[in-house]
Amino acid sequence: MGIKDDVLIVEDSPAIGMLLKSYLEKLGFSQIHICNNGASAISTFNDLIEQKKLPIVFLDYMLPDMDARSILTQILTLQPNARVILETATEKDDEGIKELIRLGVYQYIEKPIRFESLKNIIDTLEKEESFFQKESEQITMLKNAEEKVLEKTHEQIDFILKSTHQISHNKITNILGYSTDAVTSYLQKLLQEGKIIEIGEKKEIACNQCDSVKTSQVFFCPNCKGSNFRSGKLIEHYDCGNITEEQSYQDDICPNCKKEIKALGVDYRIMKNHYICNDCKEFFPEISTEYICLKCENKFKLEDGRWKNSTCYKVVNM
Ligand SMILES: [Zn+2]
Ligand SMILES: [Zn+2]
Ligand SMILES: [Zn+2]
Repeated sequence: MGIKDDVLIVEDSPAIGMLLKSYLEKLGFSQIHICNNGASAISTFNDLIEQKKLPIVFLDYMLPDMDARSILTQILTLQPNARVILETATEKDDEGIKELIRLGVYQYIEKPIRFESLKNIIDTLEKEESFFQKESEQITMLKNAEEKVLEKTHEQIDFILKSTHQISHNKITNILGYSTDAVTSYLQKLLQEGKIIEIGEKKEIACNQCDSVKTSQVFFCPNCKGSNFRSGKLIEHYDCGNITEEQSYQDDICPNCKKEIKALGVDYRIMKNHYICNDCKEFFPEISTEYICLKCENKFKLEDGRWKNSTCYKVVNM
C-alpha cells in the first residue's frame, strides 16, 4: 500500500475518539482528524475534499447536534464515493441502522470497538480499493491497445492512399488484409475532409481461388516462359530471310548475308513493337501474360479471373 488515506473520526466521546485514533495509528494511518460534532465534521470533510483527499469517515450514530442520517446525507452529497463507517452500540437490524445502510453507509462497527473488528474492516476496504484500482488500470490498458490498433489502421490506409492516385475500396481492404467498420469509417472521414473523392464503381480482376483483387500481372516469353525480355524494332531482309533487331544491321548491312539493304518495302521491312526474349532470343508480336494472386500465390489467366466491383477513390489531398 502507498500512503494511507486520511481518516475523519466524528465522535463526541473523547475517550472513544482517542482509542479509535490509537488503533488506526497501529494500522498505519497518520492523518487522523477528530471532530466532536456534526457541523465541524461536515466542514472538515469539505476541506479535505477540496484538498483532493477522500477521507475514510468513522461516524458515531449518536451525536449531540445532528443525527447520523443528516451527516451521512451531507457527506454523500459532497462526495458520493465517500466511505462512511458507522459506529454503533445498537444491533445492525435496528431500523435506524438499516436505513443508514440503505442510504450508503459502507460498513458499521460495533461498540465497544475492538481492534480485531476494526482491522477486518480496514483490510476489506483496502482489498476492494486495490481491486478497483487494478480493474481501472486494466480498462485503461485495453483502451490504449484498442486505440493503438486504430492508429495503426489509419497510418496504413494513409500510406496506401499516399502511394497512389486512385484506388478501389476492394484493393485497400485486400492490401490491409482485413475489412472492418474501422476501415470504412476512416475512409468516410477522409471523404468528408475532402482528402479523397469517390469516382464511381470500378471493376477489377480478382483471384479465381481466394477472391482477392491484390493481384499482379506478370509477362513472360511464350517460348521459354522467361521474363527477361525487351521490346524493340526488327528488320526482315527479304533476300535471305534474316530477321534480327534494327541495330544488328550496321551501316545497312544484313548481319546474315552481308549484303546492303536498299529500299524499305522492296527488299526489307521493319517490324515495330516486337518483344525479343533475352534468354531464348526468340521474338514475338505479343508477349504472354498471366495474373498472380499476391495473397494466395495462385496463378491464373485473364480469361479465368473473376471480376469484382467496388467504389473507387481518387486521392486529392493527402
Ligand atoms: Zn488468391
Ligand atoms: Zn524465351
Ligand atoms: Zn540478308
